[in-house]
Amino acid sequence: MKKCKGFLGVLAVFVLLFVMAACGQDAASKNENGASQAGETSEKADDKLKIGLSVSDLTLERWQHDRDFFVAKAEELGAEVLVQSANGDEAKQLSQIQNMLSQDIDALVIIAINSDALSTVVDQAKAEGIPVLAYDRLINGSEIDAYVSFDNVRVGEMQAEYLVEKVPKGKYFLMGGSPTDNNAKMFREGQMNVLQPLIDKGDIEIVGDQWVKGWDANEALKIMENALTANNNNIDAVVASNDNTAGGAIQALQAQGLAGKVVISGQDADLAAVQRIAEGTQTMTVYKPIKVIAEKSAEVAVQLAKGEKVTSDTTVNNGKVDVPYIKLDPIKVGKENIVDTVIKDGFHSYDDVYKNVPESERPARP
Ligand code: BGC
Repeated sequence: MKKCKGFLGVLAVFVLLFVMAACGQDAASKNENGASQAGETSEKADDKLKIGLSVSDLTLERWQHDRDFFVAKAEELGAEVLVQSANGDEAKQLSQIQNMLSQDIDALVIIAINSDALSTVVDQAKAEGIPVLAYDRLINGSEIDAYVSFDNVRVGEMQAEYLVEKVPKGKYFLMGGSPTDNNAKMFREGQMNVLQPLIDKGDIEIVGDQWVKGWDANEALKIMENALTANNNNIDAVVASNDNTAGGAIQALQAQGLAGKVVISGQDADLAAVQRIAEGTQTMTVYKPIKVIAEKSAEVAVQLAKGEKVTSDTTVNNGKVDVPYIKLDPIKVGKENIVDTVIKDGFHSYDDVYKNVPESERPARP
């Protein structure tokens, strides 16, 4: 018995020495390299959270703002962000995401090019225990953890409401967004909520309906040219789903001397679009405060990266699960409230917006 106690005592000393040695090594290597190298753990280089942000297309003005605000907020919250842009190329987005998954990220944030083509990589991320946040555009058919966006159906309603107020009766052309973007469908749903009763009443006639591949301005220009030809220029309103496509359509209208005569919607409050509204060639846009969605998404991404649960007031079904949907409010912008919205918010400066408008026609500075 005594012998046994003695043996246990010696063992205890050994265990203690071993633990101390391990701790010492851990501390030492942390001091040298800023990283723990003790044991065979898959611990990261440091304790910093790492977020992968896969952007659909940084060549569009809107997404540059999103990236900047997102990265700034995530860094403020102590995370580092790995950003990649697929510049509109679906296959590139898939390989960029796969590459990110091999870089030890703690959360994956995706602005999808094709809402229906990402389930394989999302499943892969989930299998590796990496939570996924769908940023602005929903990802269908897989178990994503959260969706942060605006009320996209409301965006579509705002576009149609504004045009209908100006032109309650007439010939309308529908210019949808990218057919692979789930948002484009939500915008259309909202537009039809407003237009359908007027179509049924016979006040509005839809003279054409096209979707613009990749939200591309040149494609929109061609579509508008063809629509004008097919209708002998007899179009009163164009329901364009964003500013980039509105820009293309307005070029076609301009060539026919119709810019400013045909009402046309947009979305994003891009500088060029707000300038066109100030100058009178575009009728309205929908401002979605990018700082709000980007910062909210950064907060949610950090929460997910830490393994915390995300709460939301509502959910959206993506064909596989009910996804927590953090739904933000869009704002209607026409000539009358440019100053009170995008300028007061600091999104664009007064001088930039009114640079081509004669002094005498400008509203008062804020
Ligand atoms: C976004 C719009 C944007 C469009 C093209 C949509 O998913 O919600 O804000 O204009 O993509 O990038």
